[in-house]
Amino acid sequence: RGGPKDLPIAEFYIDDDDSEARRRLKDKPRLVVLGGGWGGVALLKDLDPEAYHVTVIAPTNYFLFTPMLPSATVGTLELRSLVEPIRRILGRVNGHFIRAKADDIEFSDKLVEVSQRDGDGKEVRFYVPYDKLVIAVGSTTNPHGVKGLENAFFLKNIDDARGIRNRVIHNFELACLPTTSDEERRRLLSFVVSGGGPTGVEFAAELYDLLNEDLSRYFPRLLRNEISVHIIQSRSNILNTYDEAVSKYAEEHFARDQVNVMTNSRVKEVQPDKIIFTQKQDDGTLITKELPTGFCLWSTGVAPTALSRTLAKKLGSVQTNRHALETDTHLRLNGSPLGDVYAIGDCATVQNNVADHIITFLRTYAWKQGKDPETVQLHFTDWRRVAQDVKRRFPQASDHLKRLDKLFAEFDKDQSGTLDFGELRELLKQIDNKLTSLPATAQRAHQQGRYLAQKLNKMAQLQDGLAVNDIRDGDLDAAVYKAFEYHHLGNLAYIGNSAVFDLGKGWSIAGGLWAVYTWRSVYFAQSVSLRTRLLMAMDWAKRGLFGRDLIS
Ligand code: FAD
Ligand code: MG
Ligand code: MG
Ligand code: MG
Ligand code: MG
Repeated sequence: RGGPKDLPIAEFYIDDDDSEARRRLKDKPRLVVLGGGWGGVALLKDLDPEAYHVTVIAPTNYFLFTPMLPSATVGTLELRSLVEPIRRILGRVNGHFIRAKADDIEFSDKLVEVSQRDGDGKEVRFYVPYDKLVIAVGSTTNPHGVKGLENAFFLKNIDDARGIRNRVIHNFELACLPTTSDEERRRLLSFVVSGGGPTGVEFAAELYDLLNEDLSRYFPRLLRNEISVHIIQSRSNILNTYDEAVSKYAEEHFARDQVNVMTNSRVKEVQPDKIIFTQKQDDGTLITKELPTGFCLWSTGVAPTALSRTLAKKLGSVQTNRHALETDTHLRLNGSPLGDVYAIGDCATVQNNVADHIITFLRTYAWKQGKDPETVQLHFTDWRRVAQDVKRRFPQASDHLKRLDKLFAEFDKDQSGTLDFGELRELLKQIDNKLTSLPATAQRAHQQGRYLAQKLNKMAQLQDGLAVNDIRDGDLDAAVYKAFEYHHLGNLAYIGNSAVFDLGKGWSIAGGLWAVYTWRSVYFAQSVSLRTRLLMAMDWAKRGLFGRDLIS
């Protein structure tokens, strides 16, 4: 026992002597990873199997292939095809798994406080010691303070997907009962998606596919015009983090497919049989409306988990971001002892430095023109170039950079038709303040996990071999490896028999089978194992031949 709370310390792993490989790792530095999602698993995949004594702690014992989760809600894919056991993934590094929740971290004692319910439902609590700790606990759904969310469905994990699938099919069955009134049938078949981001949009598209492809086959009694799919979006466009043209395309596509997209609308309350929402009119007034519904999906963005909130509070003023744990550019958690603790994925963000980046850009720009950066005058066309560059480096800024001409006019305080250095800096500072974090995507979590694995491998090599004499200020991270840099590889969304790509430099749309196939193969390539690939391929083949299994 020990630590500030005098809890048992899980110091010894009985299975450390199980095999020769494990015996070799017994005295290696203890690397503890919190979370077995995209970030954690990317790290495990690239870690040198001889370098660390690895322990993963997570309440779920599987990795979930989230990009395909919307497909699983309607039975296009089987749920088991989207998951992979963490213990299998850990095999490569001969690691350990503890199925439990991390609740707190004692940074000075290097202990993670962990809890779990035992077989009798009693809570057990203990510490797990670490030498290096990686926090990769992801995020939770953002409730936005809306009432009645117990009546809504979320889409984060396998249980959620299973719940949605059962409800959708159950509603179809109820709608077919001879005793169901017309009005009740329309309500049961009215599906509402709150949130016009990629998850909401993809779910709507999958649902729509299901309705068109399989419904007439299994439920010939149901009339197509009795079914409705609605997307309620608070912004003025759906997919608003994508290029404007992409969101336009998606909206037109949905309009053609009779998916009802309601923008500038906010859900206020979810009741068991209806949704109450407000809609902003052109003149700025709000109108409150009601929509009878038999199903509501809540997918309006992410919020920090309980652990992230606890840690942010504990670390105090160095953690200023309300949405995620802040790290430095080496992904070290700000405020924790240097080099002990890292944070990656949805739960973390690298401190923004849009302004720094642009100032470097401006220096180069001025230098090329043989001028002093302080005297540079940016015309609108130059500004457009700068903005493109910012968008590419900081995709999360795209939304704030939509009205380029308006921004230019607003910050050209002296109305000279050009932005000087000071004006541009003000503009970028404002954007920087508005930027919350790097995008909460699998793509980013994956890059950070890989980056960290490579760095940890390097560190292990160095410590095994030569002593490091020339580490400045004890900053081993900076001495052995470069800073993390995010490479935006584009956004991608499935919108129903076609896919939209937003590749940063431009956008493209592809319709028809080819696009769908490309869309899927992009995820194929990202997919974690051959097992998963085979299972998915079998699911698609099966669906093509026999349709979806509509049982619940
Ligand atoms: P996660 O993958 O969420 O993993 C978190 C892990 O931490 C889990 O194992 C969890 O059990 C564990 N955990 C939670 N709390 C604790 C705790 N207290 N202690 C220990 N462990 C804990 N991104 C894309 O790039 N492209 C897409 O198409 C895409 N589609 C998506 C579709 C859906 C339906 C969803 C929900 C997400 C989608 N995303 C997509 C986003 C992507 O899934 C996330 O950005 C990504 O999962 C983040 O990885 P992570 O490792 O930070 O967290
Ligand atoms: Mg993770
Ligand atoms: Mg995951
Ligand atoms: Mg998606
Ligand atoms: Mg000016």
